[in-house]
Amino acid sequence: MLLLSIDFEDWHQLVHRRLGRSDWDRRGAALERQTDVVLTLLDDLGVKATFFVLGMTADRYPDVVREVAARGHEIASHGYAHERVHSQTPDSFRADVERSLEAVESAAGVRPVGYRAPAFSITRDTPWAYDVLGDLRFEYDSSQYDSPRVPNRISPIPRAPYRLRAESGAELWELPVAAASIPVGGGAYWRVLPAALLSRTLRRLIAEGAAPALYFHPYEFDPEPLRADGGGAAGTLLGVRRNVARGIVAARLRKIAADFPLLPYGTAVRDLAKRPGARPKTLSGAGLLV
Ligand SMILES: [Zn+2]
Repeated sequence: MLLLSIDFEDWHQLVHRRLGRSDWDRRGAALERQTDVVLTLLDDLGVKATFFVLGMTADRYPDVVREVAARGHEIASHGYAHERVHSQTPDSFRADVERSLEAVESAAGVRPVGYRAPAFSITRDTPWAYDVLGDLRFEYDSSQYDSPRVPNRISPIPRAPYRLRAESGAELWELPVAAASIPVGGGAYWRVLPAALLSRTLRRLIAEGAAPALYFHPYEFDPEPLRADGGGAAGTLLGVRRNVARGIVAARLRKIAADFPLLPYGTAVRDLAKRPGARPKTLSGAGLLV
């Protein structure tokens, strides 16, 4: 089986903030349009996914988040402000996650028990992040991605889901994003690698006992080209970079769904909880699993 996830954030909100626009937090039409496409596709495929919802996006689009939940998808947390964990202190990280829980729960009516860090940014520099997540009663995390694009990542990590014990003694499940010798969970790799290689690698990971997790964003399914307004050349460039190979994500997901069962995280976590307990991996203060 593969785990299917959507990092639910508004591309324009994030890009307009990066470009310094004063109205970056304004609600636009794109996210609703993208969400419609994603929900229709998932219904079509007959699959449910886990949506890691960004708190500030839930605040701006509570009705859209509510609709995602109403369609039977699992609601998890992607933090509040999309700040990298390694750019925060333990206290500010905790405040960000707590704020996201409030925003997401108020929109969707459910309290998330799963978390994914922005840009997979729980690294060797921030092992304390798991103390915070454990303390906030999260049951699972999916912030580990063995990709060379994640600087100073915790590595090596098991490919299969594992019980992770933080320094404080708190435990949760870690469900890593799909990676073998190459990362195959989503993002740029997903768009440029040959489809046959993707399938072969995912199949091999499953044979090894992994539950490879895939991640996508609503903007990757937008039928219209992305454009960051008001950013001049920088804004145009940000859009252009994201418009390469438009349409390939949905087409590949259809193909993958025909070949593999796709499940939300909650289903996998319930199965894991029934297995005889393996010894948890302890994350040391130096950010290494032992
Ligand atoms: Zn994100």
